[in-house]
Amino acid sequence: MRTAAPPSALEAGVSSGGPCRVLLSGGLDSSACLVWALEHFGHVDAVGFDYGQHHRRELKAAQAIAELLGVSFRIERIEGLRGGLLNGGRMGPGAVVPGRNVAFVRAALAMAPRPSAIVLGATAEDQAVFDDCRRYRMDAWELALGVKILSPLVTKTKEDVILSLGEHRSRILDLSWSCYQGGSEPCGTCGACVVRAQGIERAELDSTDSRGGRSGS
Ligand SMILES: [Zn+2]
Repeated sequence: MRTAAPPSALEAGVSSGGPCRVLLSGGLDSSACLVWALEHFGHVDAVGFDYGQHHRRELKAAQAIAELLGVSFRIERIEGLRGGLLNGGRMGPGAVVPGRNVAFVRAALAMAPRPSAIVLGATAEDQAVFDDCRRYRMDAWELALGVKILSPLVTKTKEDVILSLGEHRSRILDLSWSCYQGGSEPCGTCGACVVRAQGIERAELDSTDSRGGRSGS
């Protein structure tokens, strides 16, 4: 079991009183953020966004993961986002929905009670593709909006994310939804499905190595 980071390092800029609010999409990254938030904050809630995405199925997964972890979850409707994933969903530059993350942050901040901080699940891999998953963008939103934005996965790969799920890993792998297509089952071929499968494979290998070779680590 990991131990929590010293509060002083984490709480710089985090206001007191409100919940730490996790943007929960129902995929692995935001689920890992929820696990992380529960390890570091006493009061956590989660929000998912219905913005007309092709893969709205992910919100059911988000609901199930919030229930698994015992966290209050709400779905907010956001109007006006256009492009990218809304048009059929391929990973890569074509998947970009301009302004999506800042729209999510604004909506999460506007919900009562006002959050003490907002957690966003951008990973190292996202930063290569999505400009609004880069830390300097989040720093600018923090200044503009007056709320701490935490991005605990910003240096993590998908493999790291999966390993960070700890004791919840197998249940979250079962419940979460990554596919960008709108089907009832994951397509297995879109960018999100491929990255997920590679991450799971590497995490399994890493776990096997740890059990076989490096005792106690
Ligand atoms: Zn897929």
